Amino acid sequence: FYGSAPVERSASFSEINTKDITYFKSILRENNVIQDPDRLQPANTDWMHKYQGSSKLMLLPRTTEEVSHIMRYCNSRHLAIVPQGGNTGLVGGSVPVFDEVIVNVSQMNKIISFDKVSGILVCEAGCILENLESFLDNEGFVMPLDLGAKGSCQIGGNVSTNAGGLRLLLVQHLHENSSVGLEAVSANGTVMDMLGILRKDNTGYDLKHLFIGSEGSLGIVTKVSILTPPKLSATNLAFLACKDYLSCQKLLFKARRKLGEVLSAFEFLDSHAMDAVLNNLEGVRNPLPPAVHNFYVLIETTGSDESYDRERLDTFLFRLMESGLILDGVVAQDINQVSSFWRIREGIPEALMKFGAVYKYDLSLPLEKMYDLVDEMRARLGNPVKVVGYGHLGDSNLHLNITSPQYNDDILAQIEPFVYEWTSKHRGSISAEHGIGLMKANKLYYSKSPEVVQLMVSIKRLMDPNGILNPYKVLPHCLSANN
Ligand code: FAD
Repeated sequence: FYGSAPVERSASFSEINTKDITYFKSILRENNVIQDPDRLQPANTDWMHKYQGSSKLMLLPRTTEEVSHIMRYCNSRHLAIVPQGGNTGLVGGSVPVFDEVIVNVSQMNKIISFDKVSGILVCEAGCILENLESFLDNEGFVMPLDLGAKGSCQIGGNVSTNAGGLRLLLVQHLHENSSVGLEAVSANGTVMDMLGILRKDNTGYDLKHLFIGSEGSLGIVTKVSILTPPKLSATNLAFLACKDYLSCQKLLFKARRKLGEVLSAFEFLDSHAMDAVLNNLEGVRNPLPPAVHNFYVLIETTGSDESYDRERLDTFLFRLMESGLILDGVVAQDINQVSSFWRIREGIPEALMKFGAVYKYDLSLPLEKMYDLVDEMRARLGNPVKVVGYGHLGDSNLHLNITSPQYNDDILAQIEPFVYEWTSKHRGSISAEHGIGLMKANKLYYSKSPEVVQLMVSIKRLMDPNGILNPYKVLPHCLSANN
């Protein structure tokens, strides 16, 4: 588990024995109790190949009742668990640290209901995000979140990480989606039904929020209800070039004023991110050849009036080209161009992985300061390390990525704690959207006060007194419930 502080296996946890396997085989289908090392290997390794666990058991429940039986048993036996969805998490939260039992909900993948009048979708936690998108597309609706990992990540994982993504300007944060409801199973096997299907519910504490973003540390999410907006007919996407970061900021300011309610995404990437995509991914072309520009911006509008929305965007872009704020630009003419422009932005994480090791930082920072950190990091690290900046500019969310051929302690010592101190000094967040996981468990104090961390610990101890749920993650190791 490279880059996180060393952690020791807690002596309070038991080890799996043959009786445990016999029990799991009695409550699950036999072929959903996985002990085969070849099948365990990918579940023990994260998407970045940075974290490697050594679990000897993966369980694939098919129903909430099966999850409940698993939890009750593991709690009584002090067997540690790591809940797992699509295993696309980027902070080492979804893989075991040692020999925790992997509980993967991918077989719980049914759509339970969809109400076309209210737009509320109810489904099981293992539904893959892209499958939900396709289902809703056929119904004339859209999922209120979209991210590059949509082909593998699951809605239960999205809720558990409070995933953000590309269209937060149009839709809302999962905490703000007025109908996100959920069913979760707590550490002792109790099923908690918070699966609201109506927008309004003011009956005391709104406890579903504890599970949104808690990264599997408080319970396993088994079902989700979510409010989905109707699909609007007119979507336009522009790919633009700017000379510097200040121009990108000014462009955002103007887009908010002139495009207002139809502005659905505003993403930026620097020339280093663009180079990585063009050189490392097959079939990707620069939409603005031949020049290489310092910065690129994607602006998406989503509205209901095709000709008016397009004219509004064209006029906006024309004026800014004339003023020199945009150096060059192109508006997608068809669905193929739309996908090829998004492929550039969404393909950055995959393209960077081809350089070898990637040190990933996902930060919320005040807009005007955001890119200073990338410049400072570049000056600090020098060549041949590549420092790349891109992200959701519309949400003040920077993805700072640093690549080198292999993970290296000297490079890491140059990056951390500098990056966290810098973020904290500017009152930013050390995790805008990826979460804390194992990677940042001991860094929590950079973004949360000691009092708030203590309250988080108290909640964890109340809900999971034996600390079996995703141990060593989210909370500082010295304060974890199993210590
Ligand atoms: P996993 O990776 O399996 O798990 C993530 C965490 O949630 C773990 O702590 C795990 O224990 C917990 N968990 C999973 N399922 C459950 C459950 N049912 N109940 C309780 N806990 C559970 N993230 C963003 O926010 N925005 C982005 O734009 C974005 N882009 C990405 C692009 C790429 C190419 C990749 C690889 C990742 C990206 N991510 C992004 C990160 C990741 O995809 C999200 O965090 C995603 O929501 C994780 O879903 P998952 O099903 O893969 O969960």
